[in-house]
Parts: sequence; structure tokens; C-alpha cells
Amino acid sequence: MLKGIAASEGIGIGKVMIIEETSLDYTPKTVTDTAAELERYKDAVEKFCAETEEQAEALRKSTGDKEAEILMGHIQMIKDPFMGGSIENLIESGQCAEAALDQQCNMFIDMFSQVEDEMTQQRAADVKDIKAAMLAILLGVKVVKISDAPKGTVLVAKEVTPSMTAGINKENIVGIITETGSQTSHSAILARALEIPAVLSVENSTTTLSSGEQVIVDGSAGEVVTAPSEEQINEYSAKRDAFLREKRELENYRGKKTVSASGDEYELFCNIGTPKDAAKAMEADGEGVGLFRTEFLFMDRNALPTEDEQFEAYKQAAIVLKGKGLIIRTLDIGGDKEIPYLGLEKEENPFMGFRAIRYCLKNRDLFKSQIKAILRASAFGDIRIMFPLITAVEELRAGKELVEEAKADLRASKIEFDENIKVGVMTETAASGVIAHMLAKEADFFSIGTNDLTGYTMAADRGNGDVAYLYSPFQPSVLMMIRRIIKCANEAGIPVGMCGEAAANPMMIPLLISFGLTEFSVSAPSVLKVRKNIAKWTKEEADKVAETVMAMSTEAEIVDYLKGIV
Ligand code: PEP
Ligand code: MG
Repeated sequence: MLKGIAASEGIGIGKVMIIEETSLDYTPKTVTDTAAELERYKDAVEKFCAETEEQAEALRKSTGDKEAEILMGHIQMIKDPFMGGSIENLIESGQCAEAALDQQCNMFIDMFSQVEDEMTQQRAADVKDIKAAMLAILLGVKVVKISDAPKGTVLVAKEVTPSMTAGINKENIVGIITETGSQTSHSAILARALEIPAVLSVENSTTTLSSGEQVIVDGSAGEVVTAPSEEQINEYSAKRDAFLREKRELENYRGKKTVSASGDEYELFCNIGTPKDAAKAMEADGEGVGLFRTEFLFMDRNALPTEDEQFEAYKQAAIVLKGKGLIIRTLDIGGDKEIPYLGLEKEENPFMGFRAIRYCLKNRDLFKSQIKAILRASAFGDIRIMFPLITAVEELRAGKELVEEAKADLRASKIEFDENIKVGVMTETAASGVIAHMLAKEADFFSIGTNDLTGYTMAADRGNGDVAYLYSPFQPSVLMMIRRIIKCANEAGIPVGMCGEAAANPMMIPLLISFGLTEFSVSAPSVLKVRKNIAKWTKEEADKVAETVMAMSTEAEIVDYLKGIV
């Protein structure tokens, strides 16, 4: 079994076709007839543009406009006066077309690769693609035609470039394996658009696999099964059929409202970690964002993000959401989320230590700059602020005071923001569950974080295998907490959501409907599934399930019963 990045869901079973890189070697020459060489280069550009346009047209038909635009961008790049112009200048100075193209493209590839931003790095891949195609034309080299691949082919390549993708016939290619690439690389985007299962970054796959051998590509798990047994083929075929069936069925829920069988409407939001995820949430048909985990903006860097940087990130997410709800959680560090440059001291018991709202309230400058960034972004959408790990009313009050201070600063500087911004509490500790009736009087909304609520209620660490049997949201104590938090919110007339993983669990959904939850926040790929599961239940049926469950005293009994009815 080979492991890689799960880049495009689904299962493909087929025979490997290795896409070898064609040799584009040439001997650089000095040319004397520069006018003729320039003509040769211009002819190649014309041919390149015509071929690319043809490929883009094919891609437009098979996948859509967005993907075709990537290829049309290649035409703009080669015709760009800066890039194309500098190549022509080199030819005029006596270099052969191949060398001039090579030199200029390499300069752009180096320049783009050095920028950390993924979009810019992607442009380096685009230039590589252009260079290879142009060199092939200039050298008269025939490139392997993916369009000739037979039915049941699994493409294996170092990298799948946009121009390669254009040749892919969806009917014939059942899987893609590459040696490089990430979730957000072109290969991944294109594989998802084509709905072909793909596993990327499988080390040495072009050398360890050989053309003609049978493999299974599990694009959901990020695994490649080599030399599968008959039993494995049967097992994965069944999985593939179930996946396709469910996918077809789920599409019926796209663009629909989220309603129960009794006609009660719910908000179905997504959890995100970066502004880019906001776009994914929208693509997945999310109705807003119920949890923006802002700590990701603070991780993988050497210093705090400035207020302006944060403002840009929150604003970008708000713009993508076009007025849909966006709940931004303030910095939730500590526990298992480390940020080395903050220099937090090692603690005996980090999960119960100096973390999240506790840390923020003691580091007021850092906290205020985040709140100001969120407030400034609130002028661009329906933004709400949420505090993590609240355990006492004082913490909520102190956080709200800081919001008022930040508002006063912005007013003084005549900077726009939403004066009526909502401030909510993430109920994820046992304490917040017990005092939910008090918190509900002072918070504008609740969101239940079952990942932590389960741990803190059961005093069981989610990462410790020895106590894993206790870490379950179906423990009676956790269910009683959830029910209580929702009840207190309902009585106070404030919205109450759930952003922990349990919100997407089909066994939890009838209970949440019965308890009176108003918003579900789940990962983007779960949206349609959750909408379907909510649609299954009437309030009456859900109440019956909840009544039965809440009369049971063990987790095993509860899970057993729920498994039998969903
Ligand atoms: C939670 O605790 O349920 C939650 C959603 O937050 P996180 O997983 O980021 O702690
Ligand atoms: Mg949490």
C-alpha cells in the first residue's frame, strides 16, 4: 500500500499508465539570421496558442469555464509583452529560440517559486507547463497523448499539468497518482473538477509502479493499493459503487434549504481555518461559516500577524461569503495547539492551563488587535465574534469590555465597523454547560464545541488511547450537557449552534433536532450529507428518539440503539 495526499474523493480500479517526461534536450546555438529565428519562434507561439485554445475548449466542455481559464491564462502569459517580449529580445541578440525561451521561463519559474503564497507558486507550475509545450513545438517532439489512454487507465505522473488534463477523457481515466502536489495544487483542483479519484505526493510512484500493473486508487483515504487481491478488488468495487450512489443522491440536496421533515428550517454552516476555506465552504453549498479557527493565521510563522494582516484575512472571508453569516472565533491556543514564538511556558497540564480566552485576556494588546481586525472586517459582511473556552461569566464580560474598548478606538479613528456586532460563547467546557443559563443572559449566541466539551465533561483526553472508551459525545453526561446548553439558549431566545465534529454525526442529528439546536456547523465535505440527514426526521420522531436515549444510562446502550435506527 502506498500513501499520499487524498486530493480527489472516490475509488478507481484500473491499470497504470506512466506518463514519462519526454526529453526536451537541445544544443544551444548562436544564430546569425535572427529575423528567420524570430519568425520560427513566432510560428511556434501561434501553434502553441492554437493548440492551447483547442485544449481549453475541450476542457470547457468536459469540466467547465473555470478550469479552461487556467489554460487560456497560458496564452496570455506567452503573449505578455514582459515575458514574450524579453524572449524576442534575446533571439534578436543572437540566441536560438529554444535557449531564449528556456532562459526567460527559468527566470520566471525561480521568481515565482520563491514566493511563499501558493497562488504565485502555482504560476511557476504554469510557466513550466508553457515552457515544455513550447519546447516540444520548437523541437518537433511528439508528446505522449493522454487522450489515447484506454478505458480503465490510472494515470501516474510526476505532476499533472493543466495541458495534460485537457487530454483526459473522463470515461477512460479512473484514477490519478502523482509524485508532487498538495490539496490546493492545479493537479488536485483539476482532478476534483473532473471527479477523478486522485492521490498526490506519492513518493517515487513513477518508478515504483510500472505501466500495465493493476492498482486501486482510494482518493478518499489517500491510499494506493498495489497488486490487489481478488478480495480487495471486490471490497473496493463495493465501496466505489456505494460512493457513487451516495454522491448522486446527495446532489439532490444542493441549492436547497436545510429543513427537517416537519418543515423546520436550520442554518447549515461550515468550519474553516483560512480565508481560502471560505470559498470551499461556498462551493460545498454551506450557508455560512459557523467557526473560523483563527489560530491557523498565527501558526507556521515566526511572528504575530499584524492587525492589518488579520483584517485582510477576515475581510477576504467576509467578501467570499457575500453577506452570509461568519462566526470568527478569537485565538484558541494552548492545549494541543502550539505557537512557538509566543513563548508559552511548559505546563504540567496544558489542557487545563493558560490557554485560549485565558491567555488572550492576560495579553490584551494581542487580543485587542485581533478584535479590532475582526471589527474592521465587520464592515464587509455579517461577522460575529466568538470566545473560546469560556468557563465563567467574568471572562465573557471582560471579553465584551475589550470589544467595547476596540469599538471606541475605531470610532475615534473614524473607521467603519458593525456597531451591533454579535458576541457569542463557545460552550465547550463542563463549567459553561452548568452555568449556561447565566451565560445565555449575557451572550448573543452559543456554539457547542463537542470536541472539547466531551473531553472536559468526561475528564478524558481526546488523544489518549487508554481513555478513548470514555471520550464519546454519546456518553449520557455529555448528552445531558448538550441538552442543557440548548435549553438555556432557547429559554433566553438566543441562537445555538454546534461546531464540534458531533454536529455531522447522523446518530446525533435527531437528538439535536429534538433538543432545539438552530445551527449546524460542519466540515465542507459533510454539508450535503448533513442536509440529507436533517431532512429525514420529523420533530415528533426525533423527540421519540431523544426520549428513549435520555432514559438510557450507558454509552454502549445508546450507541447500539442509535446505530439501529439511522
Ligand atoms: C470543539 O472543541 O468542539 C471545537 C470545535 O473546537 P476545536 O476542535 O478547535 O477545539
Ligand atoms: Mg475547542
